[in-house]
Amino acid sequence: MIRLQLPLQHVMQQPSNNDNSAAIRFGGLFRYSGRALQLVWTTSVRLSLAFGALTLLAGVLPAVVAWVGQLIVDGVVSAMNSAGPTQQDALRHVYNLVALEALAIAGLSACQRGISTCQSLLRAQLGNRVNTMILEKALTLSLQDFENSEFYDKLTRARREASVRPLSLVNRTFGLAQNTISLVSYAFLLAQFSGWTLLILALAGLPAFAAETKFSGDAFRLFRWRSPETRKQMYIETVLAREDYAKEVKLFRLGPLLLKRYTDIFKNLYKEDRSLTLRRDSWGLALGLVGTAVFYGAYAWIAASAVQGQISLGQMTMYLLLFKQGQSAVAAILAAIGGMYEDNLYLSNLYEYLEQPVSQPGGSASSGPNPEDGIRFENVSFTYPGASRPALVDISLHLPPGRSLALVGENGSGKTTLVKLLSRLYEPDSGRVLLDGLDLREWDPEKLRARVSVIFQDFARYQFLMGENVGAGDVEEFSNQSRWERAGEKGLASEFVDQLPKGYHTQLGRWFKDGQEISGGQWQKVALSRAFMREDADILVLDEPTAAMDASAEAQVFEHFRKLARNRIAILISHRFSTVRMADQIAVLSGGKMIEHGSHEQLLAADGVYARLFELQAAGYR
Ligand code: ADP
Repeated sequence: MIRLQLPLQHVMQQPSNNDNSAAIRFGGLFRYSGRALQLVWTTSVRLSLAFGALTLLAGVLPAVVAWVGQLIVDGVVSAMNSAGPTQQDALRHVYNLVALEALAIAGLSACQRGISTCQSLLRAQLGNRVNTMILEKALTLSLQDFENSEFYDKLTRARREASVRPLSLVNRTFGLAQNTISLVSYAFLLAQFSGWTLLILALAGLPAFAAETKFSGDAFRLFRWRSPETRKQMYIETVLAREDYAKEVKLFRLGPLLLKRYTDIFKNLYKEDRSLTLRRDSWGLALGLVGTAVFYGAYAWIAASAVQGQISLGQMTMYLLLFKQGQSAVAAILAAIGGMYEDNLYLSNLYEYLEQPVSQPGGSASSGPNPEDGIRFENVSFTYPGASRPALVDISLHLPPGRSLALVGENGSGKTTLVKLLSRLYEPDSGRVLLDGLDLREWDPEKLRARVSVIFQDFARYQFLMGENVGAGDVEEFSNQSRWERAGEKGLASEFVDQLPKGYHTQLGRWFKDGQEISGGQWQKVALSRAFMREDADILVLDEPTAAMDASAEAQVFEHFRKLARNRIAILISHRFSTVRMADQIAVLSGGKMIEHGSHEQLLAADGVYARLFELQAAGYR
């Protein structure tokens, strides 16, 4: 895998570089055919067998047709030269042969029909299979992977043509095999005329073959190199064509600017496409003409041999047909090769994506040695991959069960990052996070996730039913209406559910039929209720989910929150000090460091940053 990628990545940085050795070219051509075949085979053994058998038959039958054609013409000539009962016999023989050819032709078209049936059925099954593989893989990936743009490129490319490429590669591989079989069978028949014809066939085909491989290789690299550009284009498409962006795009009149960006990217890509296409087609034309000249030279030679009586009329018909069909077989082979490069490109990407190593959190523990210990951060530091500044520096905290913690600090101070480390979406670079006295790394991730219920600032707004939006908090109870209602009470969603046309069974969002849009504050209540779905979770984290609510609603939510949190750990991120002060502990973060830590009273007494901010906000209410 890596061996192929190195030169490719090298070229990715230098698109004009043409250091393509023959080995890479042929490696690229067949690299993934085996895997595509395997994929098709495991998708449906019966269809694959039928596909293979029909391909073989379709490869051999044209030569059979040509051969029977020769017998017919020779039969006709001999019938014309005879008389009486012998002529009758000869004619009957010709009829039989004609029937045989008709049978072969019917067989050939049946094969072709059968091949396309197999292809259609396989396409549907394979598309579903590959898409499922891609999505299953996506489920195993970490948040880091999703935030990595190079990786995201892979995922996008893999998803884009998931349903067609694997089958296309198999079709082309089989098409290549079919035409090669035909060509070999033609060669076998032609060899009886003269061994030279084989050389002629090769001479006519090889230059065009070499050119096609080279240019297909260039196209292969080009496609790969410009994947980020294509992704930018896709992103602009999303922004311009999706409901959730439409408001801003209209109000800020971003449309024309973005559309221009979109067409500029196209123009750039088109320039490269055009130059490659022109080069490819002009070379293709020139070498194709050489091929045609050689073919027709052979044609003349065959005709002359017939006139000189060296071969029969029937043989002449057969050889001419073989040459003509040989030429189209060569053309088909060239086309197959061109396409195979592109398909290989796609598949290399698909497999790179599927084989992306996942750093599965390894632990298996389902409980810790000291359940009374709760959560402990020990000298935790963390820097996001690729970031120049650490997001958290040397954080130490202890939060026993039954206590609550509020995180305060300006935007970007590291509050959300701390929550991400606690829910193990990321791992600390140094230091440890412990739950019940056990490092999070040693916990079974499933068990851990079941215990922590987090609602992030940018919580998801699912275009599902209202109830399912709440139920998403606990997959086991996803469709349980009485649980929706209980959670809805605690998270305050119940307040407006009655106003929705179908209550908890109302479709939310605008994407689907009868969808109802709700306000930002209402969405937050939905998200809060989602957090309350997890009745077994004993750690509840709310990352500013109440910012769009009015102050009294927020206070009410925290009432529930504190009630629920009595034996549990509650962590809350908020900019409203009226709610922050309710927490047992308050940690003030700044630039990733914890600059103050204590209860509301302690921090006021310390008269530091917290006291100043608190006074500032309190003054606003006076
Ligand atoms: P807060 O929640 O306090 O507003 P965050 O914890 O979200 O702050 O962010 C802390 C710092 O980490 C910020 O400087 C932010 O730019 C950076 N950061 C946040 N998320 C990412 C990410 N996914 N990748 C890289 N840097 C990030």
